[in-house]
Amino acid sequence: MSKTSKPPVTAPSIASVSHSLIPSYLKADDLGPWGNYLQQVDRVVPYLGNLARWTETLKRPKRILIVDVPIHMDDGTVAHFEGYRVQHNVSRGPGKGGVRFHQDVTLSEVMALSAWMSIKNAAVNVPYGGAKGGIRVDPKKLSNGELERMTRRYTSEIGIIIGPNKDIPAPDVNTNEQIMAWMMDTYSMNTGSTATGVVTGKPVDLGGSLGRREATGRGVFTVGAEAARHLALDISTARVAVQGFGNVGGVAGKLFAEAGARVVAVQDHGGTIYREAGLDVPSLLKHVAETGSVAGFAQAESIANELFWEVDCEILIPAALEQQITAANAGRIKARMIIEGANGPTTPEADDILHERNVLVVPDVIANAGGVTVSYFEWVQDFSSFFWDEEEINARLVKIMKEAFSGIWQVAQDNKVSLRTATFIVACKRILHTRELRGLYP
Ligand code: NAD
Repeated sequence: MSKTSKPPVTAPSIASVSHSLIPSYLKADDLGPWGNYLQQVDRVVPYLGNLARWTETLKRPKRILIVDVPIHMDDGTVAHFEGYRVQHNVSRGPGKGGVRFHQDVTLSEVMALSAWMSIKNAAVNVPYGGAKGGIRVDPKKLSNGELERMTRRYTSEIGIIIGPNKDIPAPDVNTNEQIMAWMMDTYSMNTGSTATGVVTGKPVDLGGSLGRREATGRGVFTVGAEAARHLALDISTARVAVQGFGNVGGVAGKLFAEAGARVVAVQDHGGTIYREAGLDVPSLLKHVAETGSVAGFAQAESIANELFWEVDCEILIPAALEQQITAANAGRIKARMIIEGANGPTTPEADDILHERNVLVVPDVIANAGGVTVSYFEWVQDFSSFFWDEEEINARLVKIMKEAFSGIWQVAQDNKVSLRTATFIVACKRILHTRELRGLYP
């Protein structure tokens, strides 16, 4: 996409979504992240040709499971948590998507995240549908034993709809390899077999894949570098700001720094740090591993959280939570390019503002697809019980990400649309084509 091409902005308001598409279980006047997703779909309908008649498929999750997760707390009381697993679409293969433990998890959020997984999996052409899960809980307030009991009970509750050929969970915010190991064990105990392929993102010693932990950040870096090339932006001299320094942001920041970029600002839940000359990323990663946050890192100054969005930089990587770049801060962003490591960090209104200001947005649905791509490799390795070395995994990852990005870039050019709309065009066509091939049962 050339920097001057302006896509037609055809954002319908949520009110224009027909009433029948507003689920009775969400607030009609505030659909949350699900409303953002519906608007993104509406933008691609004009580009879907005959397949557009199947669009409503994309606007309705196939299956939603809400579960009560009761556990014994260490103090002898019983606590109940609300858990979800949403399978948005399984036309192209089993459901696939992470599990999030966070106090702000809502059904709308899990629905949107499951739909973005359908789009993402189709965008990189891995044979999966889209799914997502979550528990509304602040896991930092649980002991290790409570966390394990909650994970196991949740897995058992959603066990009726997950499985290596049905729906394969993975880590997301506040879930990790250990949690995947407990999920795999619980499912295996319930089914009487060792089912390594039921989750991905497992420890390597339990059927996990080499390179999985770094895969999302590596993918962010790979497509970011490709996008920078199209903008003639030299990443070896670029300044980078990263929001969220966990699995995704930490690895992406490290790879950009290794490529010569200066990581000048980092924000996480604990605060925002800044260093014009560039932060020492390996030391910062060590500090985060030891203290849990970037806050208090000695070799940087602490700045107000709100100032993060106006930091002088060429590349901005939101890699924390959704709805961070909004109409309120999009106008202040100085970066030339935003690479969405997080899912759904930019609202549709902010997308339009950034587009008007010629800021290139590399959307989540392609930018952070590296994780699910290596999850796919992990699942394939588990089925064949034959494991590849890291060099092969990284090479295959980079090849898939570059090819997918290049196709999407071309669609953006051809149709004069944003990269987000282009990714949705590619993905929605793939999903709806399989929908058409399979036909409607009965
Ligand atoms: P993580 O738990 O490892 O890290 C999350 C980071 O966000 C932490 O640094 C945390 O401090 C920060 N954060 C939390 N709340 C914040 C706030 N209010 N303000 C600023 N920072 C805040 O999670 P992750 O796996 O790195 O996931 C980050 C994002 O990337 C999520 O949107 C997730 O859905 C997405 N994602 C993750 C993967 C994956 O493989 N892990 C794959 C695709 C997309």
